[in-house]
Amino acid sequence: MTQTIAFIGLGNMGLPMATNLIKAGFKVKGFDLSDDARSAVVDAGGEAFDTVSSAVSEADVVVTMLPSGAIVKAVYEGEGGVFASAKPGTLMIDSSTIDVASARTVASNAIDKGFEMVDAPVSGGVGGAAAGTLAFMVGGEAATFERAKPVLDPMGAKIVHTGGSGNGQAAKICNNMLLAISMIGTSEAFNLGRALGLDDQVLFDVASNASGQCWSLTSYCPVPGPVPTSPANNDYAPGFATALMLKDLKLAMEAVESVDANTPLGKASADIYSAMDADGHGGMDFSGVIKKLAGEL
Ligand code: NAD
Repeated sequence: MTQTIAFIGLGNMGLPMATNLIKAGFKVKGFDLSDDARSAVVDAGGEAFDTVSSAVSEADVVVTMLPSGAIVKAVYEGEGGVFASAKPGTLMIDSSTIDVASARTVASNAIDKGFEMVDAPVSGGVGGAAAGTLAFMVGGEAATFERAKPVLDPMGAKIVHTGGSGNGQAAKICNNMLLAISMIGTSEAFNLGRALGLDDQVLFDVASNASGQCWSLTSYCPVPGPVPTSPANNDYAPGFATALMLKDLKLAMEAVESVDANTPLGKASADIYSAMDADGHGGMDFSGVIKKLAGEL
């Protein structure tokens, strides 16, 4: 029998994800606060609803793709929200990037109410959402992960069970904190190399075959030339915008505080991206940090 999916949050990511579910044969009932988003899901072959409760009440699965932990909590737990309207046993998948603590609270409340829930944040951006090649990091019970997998499949290329509730969010923020640090490190190396008269391509050829090798260097090089597809070749148009990197770093720093972890480079990276954003460069690709560090922004 065709499964019905209520999809809440049809923005830059949610709409193409919902579209891939429709293409895979699911019946999609969409809800978003924006009229344009609701019309867009109808254009994509889904149905649109005016309230969370009408979208969710007959659904087998609820997927949310929303901006923040506070909004996720309100949509699930608020008056007229998902918990108040869903059928018993409904599978709930939150793919938003939110703080670990909120993800754990909402999932635990869902389970207490007789639902099943995973957090399933993504990497891959708008391009990956459109192509159905997102990477999902999924936190929750193993059996719930197995139930969620066929729903995530049409939207993703890589679906990894990362442990219990909240561990999807934990994996995502740890990865992105590492990415920020490695991009800043790569940028510092190129800036120092340039100051010492070293050619960018020469440094790339050496480091990409030596112990400095990393994704920020070989797939997303912050200087134009060595990796033709990297945003540096396109005036640092995103890609992955600085404002989105900063959002993830803020979530990482909240998590750091909650467990009293020692992450001095993570903290320094958050400060650098925060300054870049405050200077009006939030829309620039995060690899543009090389210009910030060189004093060119
Ligand atoms: P977006 O702002 O384009 O979309 C969010 C949508 O949620 C909007 O359409 C908005 O109207 C809707 N919304 C807000 N409050 C709502 C509510 N109470 N009820 C129903 N709808 C509501 O954001 P996005 O880029 O699609 O990002 C969504 C999530 O995915 C975020 O958590 C983001 O961090 C994460 N993410 C984004 C990217 C990216 O490249 N854009 C990559 C990975 C993860």
